[in-house]
Amino acid sequence: MKIIGLPYKINQNIISSDFIEDVLKETHLFNSVTLTSKPCVIKASPKSDMVVVWLDIWDSQSGSLAKNIINCCFNIGCFIATIKDTNMNPGVPQCKNCWKWEHLTLSCCSHISRCAKCYGAHTTKHYREKAWCCMENKKTNQAATKKGELCPHIFKCMNCKGDHQADSYSCPYWHNRFNRDEHGRKQQELF
Ligand SMILES: [Zn+2]
Ligand SMILES: [Zn+2]
Ligand SMILES: [Zn+2]
Ligand SMILES: [Zn+2]
Repeated sequence: MKIIGLPYKINQNIISSDFIEDVLKETHLFNSVTLTSKPCVIKASPKSDMVVVWLDIWDSQSGSLAKNIINCCFNIGCFIATIKDTNMNPGVPQCKNCWKWEHLTLSCCSHISRCAKCYGAHTTKHYREKAWCCMENKKTNQAATKKGELCPHIFKCMNCKGDHQADSYSCPYWHNRFNRDEHGRKQQELF
């Protein structure tokens, strides 16, 4: 979600993400809201004296927390900030088909859906039934994982090689998705 209606400077102070974080802590609308990362403050346009603050919050699958506060207003000094839904994301997109960054799911060139956990040729939803790691393999004497049990195998993130799924909030790519430079730098570092 994003917050609009704020100027670039309040009382000669440039709005920073720390400033916004402090303000939100004292705003009752955000009492039950936890941010997944620091707010990201970006000028509304290069020449504008207004900013847009991008926020990511921990929410349920249905997004009920977000729904409660979308379109609500609160004051910062004499300015009225409005919370808006973000249907347009200016950050680096992650493809939900192949889990690579920098292209949208719609423009993915991969013909098959990849799993965010093991990167096998199945959707993440069908991970447990389809992943090779939990199937019986006579050649390697591997027993199948018991029915009803979660997959005990650990895979590296296909993007950063960290110990999480490719769609995880703990992925450094996820944290840097509003920071194109850093995102690109990471990519160069790894490949
Ligand atoms: Zn893709
Ligand atoms: Zn898989
Ligand atoms: Zn497994
Ligand atoms: Zn990662």
